[in-house]
Amino acid sequence: MASEDVFKKIIAHCKEYGFIFPSSEIYDGLGAVYDYGQTGVELKNNIKKYWWDSMVLLHDNVTGIDSAIFMHPTVWKASGHVDAFNDPLIDNKDSKKRYRADVLIEDHIQKIEDKIAREVEKAAGRFGESFDEAMFCRTNTRVLEYRQQADAVRSRMNAALNGDDLEELRRIIVDCEIACPISGTRNWTEVRQFNLMFATEMGSTADGALKVYLRPETAQGIFVNYLNVQKTGRMKIPFGIAQIGKAFRNEIVARQFIFRMREFEQMEMQFFVPPGTELEWYEKWKEMRMKWHKALGLGDDRYRFHKHAKLAHYANAASDIEFEFPFGFKELEGIHSRTDFDLSQHQKYSGKKIQYFDPERNESYVPYVIETSIGLDRMFLSIVSSAYTEETLTREDGSTDERIVMRIPPALAPVKLAVLPLVRKDGLAEKAVEIKNRLKFDFNCQYDEKDSIGKRYRRQDAIGTPYCITVDHRTMEDDTVTVRYRDSMEQERVPAGGLSEIISEKVSLKGLLEKIR
Ligand code: ATP
Repeated sequence: MASEDVFKKIIAHCKEYGFIFPSSEIYDGLGAVYDYGQTGVELKNNIKKYWWDSMVLLHDNVTGIDSAIFMHPTVWKASGHVDAFNDPLIDNKDSKKRYRADVLIEDHIQKIEDKIAREVEKAAGRFGESFDEAMFCRTNTRVLEYRQQADAVRSRMNAALNGDDLEELRRIIVDCEIACPISGTRNWTEVRQFNLMFATEMGSTADGALKVYLRPETAQGIFVNYLNVQKTGRMKIPFGIAQIGKAFRNEIVARQFIFRMREFEQMEMQFFVPPGTELEWYEKWKEMRMKWHKALGLGDDRYRFHKHAKLAHYANAASDIEFEFPFGFKELEGIHSRTDFDLSQHQKYSGKKIQYFDPERNESYVPYVIETSIGLDRMFLSIVSSAYTEETLTREDGSTDERIVMRIPPALAPVKLAVLPLVRKDGLAEKAVEIKNRLKFDFNCQYDEKDSIGKRYRRQDAIGTPYCITVDHRTMEDDTVTVRYRDSMEQERVPAGGLSEIISEKVSLKGLLEKIR
């Protein structure tokens, strides 16, 4: 199935099973804004907890805060967002659609990369086992030509972005003959800069109202609280501050479901270090963050690092962890060495001294910062898109059946177990409720007695419940139940009294956290 079709199915599945709904859907929705439903919110909360515990519990020198969304407007002047948080946009005069110029060019490069991939695939089929992909890519003239084309466009684009050369960005679009995906024409406007911050007013009178912004990142809430936390928490450098919270960006090209939203959530950690040690810490955090992702078992080859060619105004090194989404490898998390830029700027604009006296160095300095910044919603998408599996099952009599199963890592699964009476009569329902009421203090449990047991299993598979407990007539005699495993569909008979222990071991976050310790 084409990956586009898979992606559409995942979006439809997320809606059908209460993971994600379009915002204000009864009014036809609001562009790139989404709500998490009854299943989605559980998964989201579990991801947050996995991140938070891995930062704050596992690291003695990382602590957390929860700062306000509204901040003093000067914060955004100091941080550079008022002047430089821009995207280059271009409009197609026929379709009236607006695009990010760099995204149009990147999509064009991706098309060339796809051609290379197709050549490789064809050759692999032709040569069979003896195929040497690296050698083929080094010597095949068509592949070399495509490679040269892609590299040339990429380096022109990077140079134009680095030099803020908007005219050159437009020239690349024209030279590459990029057409509007909607109108199919090449009738483009000039490229202009567009600030991504949402502004609103605080205060009651028009005259006295203060223009404030909805924060476009959570990081600044950490920077302006650096002194508060360092002093009241008696923190010694190196130390980090973690935060999870909403961020808002007026994205021009808001698409790909929850990949790019206008209101989203970030999980960010700023790690304060002595000047000169930042690149060492940058490497360490890159490694730690990759380990955190891989511990989930979604597939090691679905992650890769991508080093930034264009550095943000505040950074001296930056990499993304990219994930293989249904629409290709894209940024999931950023790891940035932000130098002392932010704290120095806040020191300058606020007039307050923001420094640390380092007893080991016997000197005061503005700390340097390594940031790890991950989008909670993108993390959610990485999990649901790799969990979504369609399976054809063959029954004993040779007939077949289909199931959709969400292979969500058990520790993050929205519902950990469902308790199902085989039939409603003979006291089985009451017994099942009793078991569920005992287990609900430990896990998120569901009770379901409607429809056939097969249909109930499918409903739980569709939301990723790792364990289904079936209560049958034998339960009434010997107090045992069957545990049915989501992934293998195997069943096992176990004492009802031992369920809490069996399930805890398999679904606890502790197991995941131990992998990354
Ligand atoms: P992109 O290049 O995709 O626009 P970015 O480099 O601007 O992302 P950062 O400013 O580094 O992103 O933000 C850190 C993280 O926040 C990203 O890695 C991503 O996971 C998440 N994020 C950023 N913008 C959005 C958005 N509009 N919707 C959802 N998540 C986002």
